[in-house]
Amino acid sequence: MSFDKIIGHDNIVIFLRTAIKNDKLTHAYIFDGQDGVGRKLAAMEFAKAINCKKNIDNSCEKCSSCVKINNNNHPDMKIIEPDGKSIKNKQIEEFQNDILLKPYESNKKIFIIESADTMTTSAQNRILKILEEPPKYGVIILITQNSYSLLPTIRSRCQTLKFNRISKEKIKRYLIEKHGINEEESRILASFSDGSLGKALNLYGSEEFKNRREMVIDIISEIINGDKLKLLDFTSFFQDNKENINEILDFFTIWFRDMLLLIETSDEKYLFNSDKIIDLQRHTSNLDYEKIPKAVNIVEETRKNIDANVNFDLCIETMLLNLQEV
Ligand SMILES: [Zn+2]
Repeated sequence: MSFDKIIGHDNIVIFLRTAIKNDKLTHAYIFDGQDGVGRKLAAMEFAKAINCKKNIDNSCEKCSSCVKINNNNHPDMKIIEPDGKSIKNKQIEEFQNDILLKPYESNKKIFIIESADTMTTSAQNRILKILEEPPKYGVIILITQNSYSLLPTIRSRCQTLKFNRISKEKIKRYLIEKHGINEEESRILASFSDGSLGKALNLYGSEEFKNRREMVIDIISEIINGDKLKLLDFTSFFQDNKENINEILDFFTIWFRDMLLLIETSDEKYLFNSDKIIDLQRHTSNLDYEKIPKAVNIVEETRKNIDANVNFDLCIETMLLNLQEV
């Protein structure tokens, strides 16, 4: 329950609880970190703890304030979500008026602004005006993926808390303990979670995720078999899964890494893809050891080129052909 629900951000939780307990809240916070890492959950728990009528530095989950926040109908707690792809000027205008009205039933009035780094400069300037003369009762939490998209004048008036990726081990343990997912699947989900519990849970039960992984294993089999024409048949798979390209490239590098590990240690314990040991063994016996790091380089080079907006199809074709020629 409450702050205890937050996984992997112990220092941040301690910091926030101490601030509430010592009555040292600042007017504005930036919760910065990648998607799915738990920023909004932490903001909600923070809001509940601040306004809880029973407990001092944590939510009780039972008082009228906690219940209202959980039901999203607390009059003194507002969440501003992007309208479409970004936070619109009009939303911030409403916020500007709203924050000037005193809290209705609590000591603090809390605003959580999601994707705050998508605000336009004029919207940010409106926020800045509030931050220059914040009302005593106001607590604003800006949730960002890249806090540097905010004006430096906003950043300097906020307390920035950096939410780092959660360790794979913590994610794995959470999946096993809280969701009853078996050890092997938990390890795979954690490996591909990119340090985000949200992503790990999304991947769980995702057929697409499983299919993409199987497909990459098939492609690597073809690369090792050496049939050039067949290999280019796979380009449509990449086109169809363009938005998941980073995950697909991760499948490749993690697979190659497992091949190296298997050759070096022959210990299955450290493999990410331990459920695919037979395929891994087949691949390692058919590909020379010194070729594997070269293959990893080719994949990482492809990732860089795609990030740099080099033509997607060209990147993929080049990668497939180069991988076969290592
Ligand atoms: Zn409460």
